[in-house]
Amino acid sequence: MRVRFPPSPTGALHIGNARTALYNWLLARGSGGQLVLRIEDTDRERSTPENVELIFDSLAWLGIDWDGDVTYQSANAGRHAEVVAQLLESGQAYRSTAGPEQVKAFKEANGNRGFRGEDEGEGAVRLRMPDEGATVVRDIIRGESAFENVLQDDLVIARADGTPIYHLAVVVDDHDAGITHVVRGADHYSNTPKHMRIYAAMGAEPPTYAHLPLLHGPDGKKLSKRHGAASVQDLRNSGYLREAVINYLALLGWGYDEKTTFFTIPELQELFSLERVSKNPAVFDEQKLRWINGRY
Ligand code: GLU
Repeated sequence: MRVRFPPSPTGALHIGNARTALYNWLLARGSGGQLVLRIEDTDRERSTPENVELIFDSLAWLGIDWDGDVTYQSANAGRHAEVVAQLLESGQAYRSTAGPEQVKAFKEANGNRGFRGEDEGEGAVRLRMPDEGATVVRDIIRGESAFENVLQDDLVIARADGTPIYHLAVVVDDHDAGITHVVRGADHYSNTPKHMRIYAAMGAEPPTYAHLPLLHGPDGKKLSKRHGAASVQDLRNSGYLREAVINYLALLGWGYDEKTTFFTIPELQELFSLERVSKNPAVFDEQKLRWINGRY
């Protein structure tokens, strides 16, 4: 099992991302596999070296380590461009100047089927989607869903200036790193059929997917600063113990049985499994964290 944690350094390490990192780490350490850390710094405006340091610091404080060197997505731009060139070469992708308005007009004129463009030799690079069949996502947590190919727009994989779109970069990087399981937040679920089309175009096998439930605050809304602590940094500054934070993060969407709420880190490494992760949103409740913290 080779898993990855690919944070975008656009802010501190959010509690939801810390849980994603923790689950991947537990999977790697519990199975004798590996965890790869990749900094997804392709958003040049919002990615900062300070945020990269904050992420390293938070992971170190949690005791989450990784295998091999940290990689930076921006350093892989040459490889991304090479894959785009191959897809153009093989005719699986084409260049099109169509913008959102044309895409919208096409869909309206074609009974809402996905956008299909013409090769204009200039503009953004789009990957051709098949007109038949479905792309079936098999997710360990969410089960199986079929996405009809005819409804998918030809997928933009690089901008007119040649820079790759996130979907292309993430697939190429995971593929090249030999990732076997992609375990990430449910906010990326709808991207998965797109990613699977890129794997297919590359003639590569997609990894196994597992999408983790979203985190809500006690009011049922998506967890944010409004709810108080939102990052690992915040929890650390509030004086919580590392073991209590790990224990609590592990229980946000996972449980070994109905009753156990207290686990040591070795126990978590042994017991954690994706099969027991819930698909319903999990509630981050600082009172519960405080209670666990008090038991240490
Ligand atoms: N960089 C993405 C994020 O932080 C990760 C996407 C993924 O796990 O595929 O949301």
